[in-house]
Amino acid sequence: MESKVKKYYIKTFGCQMNEAESEMIAAGYECRGWKQVKNWQEANEVVINSCSVRESAENRVFGLVNNISKFKIKNTKCESTIRNLKLERPKIILSGCMVGSAMGERKRYTFKQLKQRLPQVAEFRPWWEWDFKKMKAIKTRKDKQKALVPIMTGCNHFCSYCVVPYAKGKEISFPFEDILCQIKEFGKKGWQEVILLGQNVNTYGKDFTKEEKDKIISCYHDSCHSIKDISIFSLLLRAVHKIKKITKISFLTSNPWDLTDDIIQAMKLPKVDRYLHLPLQSGDNTILKNMNRPYTVEQYWELVRKIRNEIPGIKIGTDLIVGFPGETKKAFENTVKLCQKIGFEKAYIAMYSPRPGTSAFKFKDNISYQEKKRRWSVLEKLINKKLSVKES
Ligand code: SF4
Repeated sequence: MESKVKKYYIKTFGCQMNEAESEMIAAGYECRGWKQVKNWQEANEVVINSCSVRESAENRVFGLVNNISKFKIKNTKCESTIRNLKLERPKIILSGCMVGSAMGERKRYTFKQLKQRLPQVAEFRPWWEWDFKKMKAIKTRKDKQKALVPIMTGCNHFCSYCVVPYAKGKEISFPFEDILCQIKEFGKKGWQEVILLGQNVNTYGKDFTKEEKDKIISCYHDSCHSIKDISIFSLLLRAVHKIKKITKISFLTSNPWDLTDDIIQAMKLPKVDRYLHLPLQSGDNTILKNMNRPYTVEQYWELVRKIRNEIPGIKIGTDLIVGFPGETKKAFENTVKLCQKIGFEKAYIAMYSPRPGTSAFKFKDNISYQEKKRRWSVLEKLINKKLSVKES
């Protein structure tokens, strides 16, 4: 007799934030008694947690939706079953960045356009409709050593190439106490490492009301550090640091312009990872300006020096984009030189991909794919393979 237990399958595209959200979505299904399966072919419901950062990521979503909707047609010869396809086919629920970009406050395209492109999708559900707060992701955590803990979502900055402010909306920080409870729970269940996640963790808590901030400061600020210019994120780091069972704390991502002295002081705590991810994107001031990154090469370099002085031995990794519109050979050479000078531990290097709806879309994508690929290889060799390169 066939099992009555309903089955779900989740496909996640993109970053660790999406991975963490998928775990919470899975937790919601588990609470309702559903069972996770490894193949979408066995599922009653398929959730696709999408990514919009690159066109290729969206294309993979279109491909998967297409495959799922064709699957039953290919595998049934019975006409009546075909007529009843609605009952046979797994229900497809689309979530993540592609949905956020159409249903959020900041749109890159309309919901109607999204529906027209994906008529096979039964339900479009943005992240805020999953009610993550009520879902306990512990049961469904795949990594039994490191716990991913989203502390906020969204972004208030608009880098000209980036879809995140549209896909995820404005910054929303999750409640301070809820985060601590979740991490304590992870600690009790045996996890020792936590990774605090957000598009820009440094601004965590900036959206709290004055009363909320004052309450956190009165409960978690200790007299060892100055109350002047205090950041709520630094208080979170200090509070997590006090959780006995947790032995290592990492965080992602930190925008260079929001990394305050107060946060750098909190990073000195012994349990905080001696690796910092600090996206540079370009080592050329004109390109940085066109990317709407509010710092110069000189300011970034000063920040790196300050961090290294305060925390000797810290390793720094970064994100870089090659082939941004107007990136001349000289501009790219500037990036290579800065990377040589800094000596990054690792880098996530992306070839620029124009995204409709972003402000950089108005620039001509004037660097050929071959040249982007070449520049990508130069940086990959230099940073990730640690080989010497000559770029001039
Ligand atoms: Fe995107 Fe810039 Fe916000 Fe990062 S800071 S999520 S790159 S807009």
